[in-house]
Amino acid sequence: MDDCIFCKIVKKEIPASIVYEDDELMAFKDINPIDKVHLLIIPKQHIESLLTCDPIHKDILSKMLLLAPKLALEFGLKGFRTMINSGKEGGQEVFHIHFHVYGGSERLAKI
Ligand code: 5GP
Ligand code: ZN
Repeated sequence: MDDCIFCKIVKKEIPASIVYEDDELMAFKDINPIDKVHLLIIPKQHIESLLTCDPIHKDILSKMLLLAPKLALEFGLKGFRTMINSGKEGGQEVFHIHFHVYGGSERLAKI
C-alpha cells in the first residue's frame, strides 16, 4: 500500500524507533505515547484491520500476540495492556493492523 504510513515504516522510507524486527513482524515506539512504554506491533504485510482478518491470518495474529509479552518484559514492564482498535468507529486511525502494547504507569491509560 503506497500511501500507508506503517508500510513506509516497514520499508524504512520514514523513520521510527524500531524495537523489534523479523521476517514477518515489526515493533516500534508509538510516536504519541500514552504511557511510559507504548509500543506498536505490526505485521510487515499490509493487513488493514482485525475487521478484514479471516482464518488465513491466524498464524500472523498469534505471532503478534505472543510478541507482546516478550517485548513488554524486555521493556521492564511487569504487566501491560494490549489494545486493538478496529475500524473508524473502533478508534482506528491507521489502517494497517497494529497491536498497542503499553504500561508502566500506576494508573493505566486508555485511549
Ligand atoms: P490507532 O488509533 O489506529 O489504533 O493508533 C494509531 C497509532 O499510531 C497512534 O497511537 C499514533 O500515535 C501512532 N502513529 C501514527 N503515526 C505514526 C508514525 O508515523 N510513527 C509512529 N511511531 N507512530 C505513529
Ligand atoms: Zn500498510
